[in-house]
Amino acid sequence: MIKETINKLHSELPATVKLVAVSKFHPFEAIEEAYQAGQKVFGESRPQELLAKVKRLEEVRVAKGDPDYMSDIEWHFIGHLQTNKLKMVLPYASLIQSVDSVRLLEAINNWGRANNKVLNVLLECFISSDETKQGFSRQEVLDLVSGESRYDFIHISGVMGMATYTDDEQVIRSDFRRLKEISDMIQDRVGECNNLSSDCREISMGMSDDYPIAIELGSTMIRVGSMIFGERNY
Ligand SMILES: *Cc1c(COP(=O)(O)O)cnc(C)c1O
Repeated sequence: MIKETINKLHSELPATVKLVAVSKFHPFEAIEEAYQAGQKVFGESRPQELLAKVKRLEEVRVAKGDPDYMSDIEWHFIGHLQTNKLKMVLPYASLIQSVDSVRLLEAINNWGRANNKVLNVLLECFISSDETKQGFSRQEVLDLVSGESRYDFIHISGVMGMATYTDDEQVIRSDFRRLKEISDMIQDRVGECNNLSSDCREISMGMSDDYPIAIELGSTMIRVGSMIFGERNY
């Protein structure tokens, strides 16, 4: 099932859209199966779980006597990140999709300076009408990218957002349009802004239930979990 879904998604997605397979709450074996079907990028939302899977892969490499086993796997962090858990995530994740506050940005930048590593991030934007969700507002993004302070150890690659949890397609569409507008606003300012490089173009939006709409509205990266791996047991 995992293999078939990965194959189907890979054959259907436009070349401009990257698939992140969200493997949270699923075992390492499920990741292996997806990897063998050609999937390279996996999304995890809990620091402890990401770290456990990274360690597990290291053990499997030792057991197989093959240090290159799954060597081109990439981990994206997509969950809420507390500043006291950075060291469990930042050494391993190639992209932190869920940076949702200036405080976190500063903490990541400090970690980057201390460890001499530039971290790739997306700015998580608040686009839904669910009060429980987090993220920057449009104005906060604007202030951040054009602000005085400069984050030397952070590379902002774009934005991420989650639509309202609803069956109403019009609501989902207007949420995704909002994220696309924030991205367009950033594009207009690339070059003038301290914290932006010219390739700040990623728009991570779309999950199992809404990714076709997200793609239609400009997504460059979809985060698909349950459609690939089945329901999660929390
Ligand atoms: C869990 C999660 C997903 C995947 O959701 P599915 O509905 O299972 O596809 C995507 N993005 C984020 C931020 C998540 O936490």
